[in-house]
Amino acid sequence: MPSLKSFSLLLASALLAGAAPPLNGRSETGSLKAASWPTFQQCEGRETVIAKAANDAQILGKATKDYVASLKGPTPRYTTWFGNFTLARHATALNIYSTIHTNDYLGYTYICDCDLPGLPEDVVAYVYPYQHGMVHLCPEFFRRNTTGKNTQAGSILHEATHFSDNGATEDWVSGTDNSLKLAIDDPDKAINNAANYKYFAENVPFLN
Ligand SMILES: [Zn+2]
Repeated sequence: MPSLKSFSLLLASALLAGAAPPLNGRSETGSLKAASWPTFQQCEGRETVIAKAANDAQILGKATKDYVASLKGPTPRYTTWFGNFTLARHATALNIYSTIHTNDYLGYTYICDCDLPGLPEDVVAYVYPYQHGMVHLCPEFFRRNTTGKNTQAGSILHEATHFSDNGATEDWVSGTDNSLKLAIDDPDKAINNAANYKYFAENVPFLN
């Protein structure tokens, strides 16, 4: 991965040149596309951090989609986060990971507010499912990891699955333990739970 600084320079120069930044996972077709840069609201000084997370989310989402597409049956990684393997639930997961990957996270709008009354302090981000591509980022987002588990990129994937056009997932439960338990107890809910999509994508600790 390029450093944050080189990443921002790369994007800035790509933006000026009007050409696609040569980043992994964002040039599948090989054709030149106009470079994306998010729209920001109230995010002064945090634009590069968010753009880096958006780019990381694109790469993470692509790898995850490819992994799910390759599955022919249960694997430790699948059953850990989505429970008992069925063709129907696997199809749901594949559909959601495939659909979110058609989104360009660098083309999203990021709104650095957290103005919902009564919103708990540990909320990382939120969306209105019908406001496609608009992600509200809370202060906790900026305390998330950049690699490994509970990442900023994972949070963007989590939010992306909520959009009605993507997967319309719910927040049945949150946190590692609850998500692991949901996979065992109620795989039909786990396959519709945003946190399970995030943890499955991050895959920490690593499972095959
Ligand atoms: Zn959520």
